[in-house]
This record gives sequence, C-alpha cells and structure tokens, in this order.
Amino acid sequence: MIEATGITKAFNGVQVLRGVSLTLRKGEVVAVIGPSGSGKSTFLRCLNHLEIIDGGSIVVEGEALATAQAEGPSRYASDADVRRICRKMGMVFQSFNLFPHMTVLENVIEAPITVKRLPRATAIAKADALLDKVGLLAKRDNYPGRLSGGQKQRVAIARALAMEPDIMLFDEPTSALDPELTVEVLRTMRQLAEEHMTMLVVTHEMGFAREVAHRVIFMDDGRVVESADSARFFSAPQHERTRTFLGQML
Ligand code: ADP
Ligand code: MG
Repeated sequence: MIEATGITKAFNGVQVLRGVSLTLRKGEVVAVIGPSGSGKSTFLRCLNHLEIIDGGSIVVEGEALATAQAEGPSRYASDADVRRICRKMGMVFQSFNLFPHMTVLENVIEAPITVKRLPRATAIAKADALLDKVGLLAKRDNYPGRLSGGQKQRVAIARALAMEPDIMLFDEPTSALDPELTVEVLRTMRQLAEEHMTMLVVTHEMGFAREVAHRVIFMDDGRVVESADSARFFSAPQHERTRTFLGQML
C-alpha cells in the first residue's frame, strides 16, 4: 500500500530524516515508536504530503507520489495526481483538529460533500453509520467543545473514515488523553484493525503496539533502527538502543 524508500528531510539545515524506508502491506498494522524528536511525525507527514521530502521516493498503491532523482530533490507527481493519491490516506492527529464551529455531524460530512461531491443526504447517511460505529451517534448534533478528548478523537477517526481511505495514518492519537479516555480510542482503533484496515500508527502505547500491530518500527535520530514482527520486537529486540528505549517505556 505504501513503499517509502530512503526518505530524507531537513528543516533549516538540520537533518531530521536520514534515509527512512518503510513497506506497508494491505491489511497490515505497523506501529512506529521512538523517542521524542526522532522524526516520527515528520515521516508520517511526508507520506501524505504535509511535508515535502528532500530525497527518496514514495509509492502509494503502485502510484508514484514522489520519485528520487539522481541529482537534486525528489520529483513529485502533478498537483492533481498528488491530491488524488493523498486522498487514499486518512490522517488522525494528536490534537484532533476538529472544526470547532461545526457540529460533530457537520465535521464528518464536510469533506465528503466539498471534496468528494457526495449528495448531502448520502453523506449524512454515511456519517451516521460511522458515528454509530465509533459510539457517538447520540452526539451528532453537539459541538466539539462539548465533547471529551476521547470523544473528539473518535469523531476525528470517523471524519477520516468518511473519505473512504485505503490507509489510515495515526500520529500519537492518544497522547493528549487521560488513560481512561485513551482506552476508548484504542478500542476504536483495534476494531478498525480487526476489519483489516491498513494502518500506520505512531504511538507510545506499548500494549497497542504489542497486541494489535503486526510489525513495529523503532526510529531514533531520523533513522529506522529496528523493524520486526511485534512479537519478536518485544521479546528479542536486536539493538541496544531499542532495548534501552523499551526499558524506559515498559
Ligand atoms: P517526533 O514526532 O518523533 O517527536 P518530529 O518529526 O516531530 O519528531 O520532529 C523531528 C525533529 O524535527 C525535531 O527536532 C523537530 O524540532 C524538528 N521539526 C519538526 N517539524 C519542524 C518544522 N516544521 N520546522 C523546523 N523543525 C521541525
Ligand atoms: Mg511527533
């Protein structure tokens, strides 16, 4: 679903990604873990064009989003192709990013109507089904300000799913939440995984990484240090740096 190869990225001359590669297969759940500042968010943001890569290539479902060049920066597909390819990926952020002036329902139907040009009634029927799935149909006419953090994040997940993405990217979706609210968001994500959604999840939730993810990637200082099946990753980490990190987390 995603093949990223040798991604490099610098901000103001500071190298943040030093050649990151990742293969994400259909139906696979991959957890990305690592210390703060290691480049996890930047990598995720590069995958769906929220950041422009300097070097490397990104192929999504067989289509090149960006192609490495022998010299100079990676070459991107046309604007129209970039938009179309990025629509295959839904993203959920740590900070929810709901529109505060719109109700829950309006948040979920906005993009399907304006971007996908769905008829309003169709978008509403679909949104209701998704809100029901995340357990928030009763809140459809509330404004985000009236919701708990866990509820906001589940609305954000429903909103991303409303665009029918093939891949879901999560950037620390529970880091802003209290433990009891984290549980309800993780439950929703686990349910998505059980429905075979392809997911790339940056997380500090080691339980989720161990139990739900098929594979775990450990990043440090802009590099992938270790990538392994989650069972093996936790039972027999190969690198000293991984062991130190896990020792701090568990
Ligand atoms: P992580 O998500 O693993 O905590 P990030 O990808 O957010 O790491 O950040 C990696 C490094 O890149 C950090 O040093 C951060 O300060 C820097 N960085 C991230 N985004 C920007 C930006 N837009 N401008 C400048 N520096 C940035
Ligand atoms: Mg981050």
